[in-house]
Amino acid sequence: MRVLNIHGVNDVRLDPKAAPVAGDADVIVRIKACGICGSDLSYIKWGGIHRPEGGVTPIGHEAAGEVVAVGANVKDAFIGQRVAINPMNTPSNIGSGGTEGAFTDEVLVRDARVGDSLLPIADDVSFDIAALTEPLAVALHGVNRSQAKPGDKVVVFGCGPIGLAMVLWLVDRGVEDVIAVDLAPERLERALALGAKAVINAGTENLRERLFALHGHHHYFGREVADTDAYIDAAGGPNILSDVISFIRYQGRMVITAAYMKPVSIHLGAMLTTEMQLTTAVGYPTEMPEVVAALPRLQGKLAQLISHRFGFDDVLEGFAVAATPQSAKVMIRFGDAPA
Ligand SMILES: [Zn+2]
Repeated sequence: MRVLNIHGVNDVRLDPKAAPVAGDADVIVRIKACGICGSDLSYIKWGGIHRPEGGVTPIGHEAAGEVVAVGANVKDAFIGQRVAINPMNTPSNIGSGGTEGAFTDEVLVRDARVGDSLLPIADDVSFDIAALTEPLAVALHGVNRSQAKPGDKVVVFGCGPIGLAMVLWLVDRGVEDVIAVDLAPERLERALALGAKAVINAGTENLRERLFALHGHHHYFGREVADTDAYIDAAGGPNILSDVISFIRYQGRMVITAAYMKPVSIHLGAMLTTEMQLTTAVGYPTEMPEVVAALPRLQGKLAQLISHRFGFDDVLEGFAVAATPQSAKVMIRFGDAPA
């Protein structure tokens, strides 16, 4: 068997590994599909995460597959069960700095709990779609934190897989006036296809003027503010927060889901009169079961999130493609998993 390990900065290798063995509390899942995440790309750049000196970081946390071994004490799991993995609810934090990563033929899920770390998926949902569960849950949590409701006007910054999934969830909950912002035309096209009402290319267009034209604007406390109710930042650009502060409406809401690696300076004085709500969102404390339940209903739309598919042999080529703005979700497929 093989596993994808980070050995150092920009040094990621497909290494041989022994077949995992399930203890009484564990389950082994034969991976059928695992998506490449932006955080995987970051981990590779950083040379791993929590990587022991001279050791490796196995990666891959967006996985779905089939149960092939069940420990004696695990309830409700069975051989052949089709599951998505909730890596946050595994003790080894699969693919994010623990002993297991899901870019592998078979992964050990320690202390497995069906309905929690292992989520059974409907028979008519493909493994590719099931492997979107994790990023979809991240996106849904960000949308939940924005408190967006039907009738709201919302802006999503960033049309990578997470931002695109946010557009999808917003539209799905009846938020019809969603504007997506990005720098790459291909990504903006995808946002429109997923139901964004309009898009703004922040590289070539004036964000403020276009937003005022699309969502409307009004006068408040000595300045013009957009009629937008909520902003979600899934991009992480250095000027996004200060731009939003400059034109957000009274008690508008903003959620940061992007991983800022550097401090950002903001004008608290300009923020004061807006009484804006600024919050962050990370992970998916409660969202996974809702996502899994929605997969059969949304699978046609969800397929649009996947731009490329590679076999496990070509996983490194997949990573190169995932680093380009032309890609959305790059899916790695294992064995003979049907598309
Ligand atoms: Zn991820």
